Amino acid sequence: MNTLAALFRDVGAPLAIETIRLDPPKQTEVLVRVAAVGLCRTDLHVMRGERRVAMSPMVLGHEAAGVVETIGAAVQNIAPGDHVVLTFIPGCGICRWCAKGLHHLCAEGPRITQGPQLDGTYRRHDAQGNDVGAFCMIGGFAERTVVDQASVVVIDRDIPLDLAALVACGVPAGVGAARHRAKVKPGDSVLVVGCGGDGMNVVQGARLCGATTIIAADIAPLKLDLARGFGATHCVDAQGEQLTRAVLHLTDGVGVNHAFVCIDPASTLLPAFRATQKAGNVVVTAITPDTVKQIDVPPLELFATQKAIMGAVYGFMSPRLQIPELLRLYRRGDLKLRELITRTYTLEDINQGYADLEAGKNLRGVVVFPV
Ligand SMILES: [Zn+2]
Ligand SMILES: [Zn+2]
Repeated sequence: MNTLAALFRDVGAPLAIETIRLDPPKQTEVLVRVAAVGLCRTDLHVMRGERRVAMSPMVLGHEAAGVVETIGAAVQNIAPGDHVVLTFIPGCGICRWCAKGLHHLCAEGPRITQGPQLDGTYRRHDAQGNDVGAFCMIGGFAERTVVDQASVVVIDRDIPLDLAALVACGVPAGVGAARHRAKVKPGDSVLVVGCGGDGMNVVQGARLCGATTIIAADIAPLKLDLARGFGATHCVDAQGEQLTRAVLHLTDGVGVNHAFVCIDPASTLLPAFRATQKAGNVVVTAITPDTVKQIDVPPLELFATQKAIMGAVYGFMSPRLQIPELLRLYRRGDLKLRELITRTYTLEDINQGYADLEAGKNLRGVVVFPV
């Protein structure tokens, strides 16, 4: 079948809206009608060439939800008509990590920037007959996509699909970083540097954990305004040493229990590290451009202050477990999802959506497809 898709063709160029050919699903794959897909900053890093992918053209988009239309003969526990969230790391189910339920560490994870399906072949082809890749084995910037069942989580049908898309990336990344990586406890103090898609969800994750001091730091006034609604108790419009000083001032000079680096770790990790108290945690949830090879942290300072610097992908929990749990929290009224969406776009307007993200106008832009 044919499907409309937004293709990454060249670094620095806008996404190309093209009709591509989509092959039917193979044995373990499903065909999904995409209902909504979030505009995450990671795709922007690819467009700018800051995060290299192995091929082009490639359909970007990795924060998607939709409805299953057809399934391959060997697909289990997924049926046509099911509402699904697509996970940007597949859970192969058989590697040493998946065997322990740690799908966010799946051995197939490093292949998500390569382009092919999980089985190494292609389902998408452009008008010239070239193979087209799928970012994160998802390729969500398209009306329809074919993905392996390893990338599918079935959800309840009462959840609006535009909100379901958000729990494919930004929400679990942020909420999980607070709950499952740092393990924020009641009464703890938290700093969140960068209150975009991930960071705003760290704010609400920290609130869910019972943190009593939640300091939101950003240089976009819009995001600081919004952060209070998600649970921030203090807002800091500063960066670098000024940020560190402001946080120390707010915490009686000792720093926070947990700092979250949710934007540009190259410039924010050290200020966040120094705003963290002794034996505290510094959690990195954001990607760094490939060109940044290292970030300096004075080793004696690390040793003497006994802090932990840790990474968190997908909120450090299997999306198979975390996505249904997050949707339960949403249904109970404990997790804000609708409030995360600033604006919706058509697929044809996707480049405007990314321009708005770059301009700091959007907490989350979402491409919504007409039913
Ligand atoms: Zn993302
Ligand atoms: Zn695996």
